[in-house]
Amino acid sequence: MSVEDKSLQCSDCGTTFTFSAEEQEFFQSKGYTNEPKRCPSCRQVRKSERSGNGTYSYGSRRQMFPTICAECGKDTEVPFEPRSGRPVYCSDCYRKVKGSR
Ligand SMILES: [Zn+2]
Ligand SMILES: [Zn+2]
Repeated sequence: MSVEDKSLQCSDCGTTFTFSAEEQEFFQSKGYTNEPKRCPSCRQVRKSERSGNGTYSYGSRRQMFPTICAECGKDTEVPFEPRSGRPVYCSDCYRKVKGSR
């Protein structure tokens, strides 16, 4: 069975890209039967979109954990995983708590 390079059209931007024989073999080894629908750059974009929270705040890719502020009871998000037994504050209260030393 010979595998040849294929030209495919990206369903997102319409660019024609090469689905190389190497990639096709890779896909087959993974058990994928579908051809890629998107060009490599659109695939990259998709990937980074999925790992973030949609498209907003392009620069920050830190994962945020929803929690409740121990001080004011407000819903908030923190950039680390809240541990039980440790108070977690919203950014306002955190500043207050940290500032009162
Ligand atoms: Zn594309
Ligand atoms: Zn608070």
